[in-house]
Amino acid sequence: MGKRIVIVGGGIIGMFAAYYAAQDGHDVTVVERDNEQRENFSTGNAGMIVPSHFTPLAAPGMVKLGLKWMWNPRSPFYIKPRMDWGLMDWVCKFWQASNQSHVDASSPVLRDLHLASRSLYEVFVEKHGNNIGLVKRGLLMLCKTQHALNEESATAQKAVRLGILAEVLSPIGTADLEPELSMNIRGSVYYPNDCHLSPQLLMTQLQTINRSLGVKFVWGTEALGWQTQGQIIHSMRTNQGNIAADEYVLCCGSWSPQTVSDLRLNFPMQAGKGYSLTLTQPRQLPSICSILAEARVAVTPMSTTLRFGGTMEFAGLNTQITPARIQGIIDAIPHYLPAFESKDFHEIKPWCGLRPCSPDGLPYLGRTRDYSNLIIATGHAMMGLSLGPISGMLVSEFIRGEQSSQEIDLLSPDRYRKK
Ligand SMILES: Cc1cc2nc3c(=O)[nH]c(=O)nc-3n(C[C@H](O)[C@H](O)[C@H](O)COP(=O)(O)OP(=O)(O)OC[C@H]3O[C@@H](n4cnc5c(N)ncnc54)[C@H](O)[C@@H]3O)c2cc1C
Repeated sequence: MGKRIVIVGGGIIGMFAAYYAAQDGHDVTVVERDNEQRENFSTGNAGMIVPSHFTPLAAPGMVKLGLKWMWNPRSPFYIKPRMDWGLMDWVCKFWQASNQSHVDASSPVLRDLHLASRSLYEVFVEKHGNNIGLVKRGLLMLCKTQHALNEESATAQKAVRLGILAEVLSPIGTADLEPELSMNIRGSVYYPNDCHLSPQLLMTQLQTINRSLGVKFVWGTEALGWQTQGQIIHSMRTNQGNIAADEYVLCCGSWSPQTVSDLRLNFPMQAGKGYSLTLTQPRQLPSICSILAEARVAVTPMSTTLRFGGTMEFAGLNTQITPARIQGIIDAIPHYLPAFESKDFHEIKPWCGLRPCSPDGLPYLGRTRDYSNLIIATGHAMMGLSLGPISGMLVSEFIRGEQSSQEIDLLSPDRYRKK
């Protein structure tokens, strides 16, 4: 007999959690604060599936880089200084985690999660057809300077040691892969196993499939609090009344900690704001997605359109747009891709999204010791689309009470729990 599962949050993680739980025969309801026509946070991202992203955000050198970039209003990484205890605690934990032993321990875990997720995307497409724009042509890290190429080559060597395919290419080698694109670069690293897709198509497709699997959607409904007895959650309080279930899955992205604030759980999170700009008639259309390495700008072809995304701005839980940072993205593009000009972006409305970032750069995936019927699936930072399917699959394993198919000890939502 299936359980009553309430999934709180209908972003990419909530949608994949619903997809796998419904296939296990559970009675699944997704509760989403926004309305059905929402411009959800999971739709405007760069759409990359990235086994190449095996290094967590918290890594040696990141604190130094963050401090350097803090003074540049156009930089891709920024922490807005403010009197906020949560932010100070997060920065402290980020600093503690930014060491080599953390990277060494986390990299194989992230590699396995990304590769498993990539396989699940292939299964998804085999089963439902490729209506999500999945393109399996890899990813290019385009480097403007020798310094960046050296750094990216060192990362490529680590990738190869971890069993991830990676190849350092000259400008000519890169042009052979992208003959239609003019590039002004020193070289690149090619990750042939990375992929890209259209997040908007994916979200639409997931909603349709979930509906056909019997998933119910409750739109415009915000989780406000919880009714508990001992270690059991009896019901979730919302702006539309109480909702009771056997299990609750928390997938509220950057809002996850505040959604369960009355449960007094401790899983630190900061919202990492990012922007994207989509050209509907780009001057040139690459066939492979890429990252402009020094500028940290992602470039993704989506059908006939071209999306540019970037910045990681820790400025609180808001979607206020900072024009200087948008300009930083726009100004960087012609340095690498000279066919594009700033004026191409004049009429383009920027999309803004918040990445849910844990201080150690790893997601929170699992049950918490404090409540027996609460599962947490959040904190995916810049990897939520890439890790969506495996996260949903893991949630269904937690619901079944099975031994996890992945190494998940480092992902415990209790890892910052006060003893
Ligand atoms: C510019 C940019 C580019 C990116 N590119 C990539 C990429 O190429 N590849 C990749 O893997 N990732 C990428 N990401 C990251 C990715 O978008 C996120 O990791 C992902 O969206 C997180 O999904 P989520 O479901 O956890 O959270 P969200 O997408 O934020 O969804 C959370 C949902 O919960 C709802 N909610 C919140 N609070 C409540 C409440 N109390 N009650 C009910 N509902 C609630 C919200 O309305 C929202 O719909 C990018 C992000 C940005 C900003």
